[in-house]
Amino acid sequence: MKEIVVISGKGGTGKTSLVASFAALAEKKVLADCDVDAADLHLVLNPKINYREDFSGGKKAKIITEECIECGECEEVCRFDSMYYPDPENEIPCVNPIFCEGCGVCVRVCPVEAISFDDAVNGEWYVSSTSHGPMVHARLGMAEGNSGKLVTIVRNKAREIAEKENLDYIIVDGSPGIGCPVIASIAGADLVIVVTEPTLSGQHDLLRAAELTAHFRIPTVICINKWDLNPDIAEQIETAAKERGIKDVGRIRYDTAITKAQIMKTSVVEYTGGAVSEDIKQVWRNTIYALG
Ligand code: SF4
Ligand code: SF4
Repeated sequence: MKEIVVISGKGGTGKTSLVASFAALAEKKVLADCDVDAADLHLVLNPKINYREDFSGGKKAKIITEECIECGECEEVCRFDSMYYPDPENEIPCVNPIFCEGCGVCVRVCPVEAISFDDAVNGEWYVSSTSHGPMVHARLGMAEGNSGKLVTIVRNKAREIAEKENLDYIIVDGSPGIGCPVIASIAGADLVIVVTEPTLSGQHDLLRAAELTAHFRIPTVICINKWDLNPDIAEQIETAAKERGIKDVGRIRYDTAITKAQIMKTSVVEYTGGAVSEDIKQVWRNTIYALG
C-alpha cells in the first residue's frame, strides 16, 4: 500500500481538482481530505457519511458561577484576555471560548476550584462512501486550532481502512502552506506531489514546500498547473526543482473544463475526454512510476 499526498504552497492551485481526478483514475484506494481548515473534496465527491465522531483539539476553561468567590485571580493571570464580566451587579467572570487557549493557568490559581477544564469539541471527522471508494474527511469549527491533530486522525483512519480492505493507495488531499497541518499531512508519506502555478509566488511556494519535504526526507515531485499561462516561468520552476533533485510528473494546461467540472461536482477526467484530461491521466501514470 502506498500513500500519495498532494500539497500546494497556497490554496486555489488546483490541488483538490487533481486529487478528485486521481480518485477516479486509481484502482483500490481510500481518499483522505486532510485540508481540514478548508475542506472541499467532499464538494466534488459527494460522500455519504457512514460514521461520524467529535474531535477535541484541547480543553477550555469554564467558570462554575455558584462556586466563584469573585477574587479576580483568574482574570489577572489569563494572558489571552479571555475573561469578561456579563453581570454588572457582581464580579463573577465568564470565559470567552473563542479567546481561551486552554492553557489551564486560571484553573491552577483559582483558590476555590471554581473553574472546570473539560475537553472542547472543535469539530467532527467522518468515514464516508463515495462512488470512488471510501473517504475519510473532517470539519474543523470556525477559529478552532490544533488542526494538525485532526489531520493525523484523518490519515490514521484512512490507513486503517486501507489495511483492512487491502487497498493499494491512500490518496491524500493535503493542507496548503508549510505549517503544522501540512507537516501532519506529509510525515511518513511515500510520495508528495507539490502542485504549483507558473508565477513567481508559485515558484517561491514550491521551494518552501521542497525544503520542508527534504527536511523530512520524503520523496517529492512537482506538477505545474495552468503551465501554458506562463511557459517561461513554468520552465524556470522545473529547472529550480531539478536542481534540488525534484522531478516533475507532468504539466496540466489551463482549461475552463476544470472550473466547469467543479461546478458540475465531478472530476475533470470524468467531465471531459479533452486534452486537459489527457494531461491529468499522464500525471497519474507518472506518479505511479515515481512511486516505484
Ligand atoms: S485556560 Fe488559559 S486561556 Fe483559557 S481562560 Fe484560563 S488562563 Fe485564560
Ligand atoms: S479565580 Fe476562581 S474564585 Fe476567583 S474570580 Fe476566578 S473563578 Fe472566581
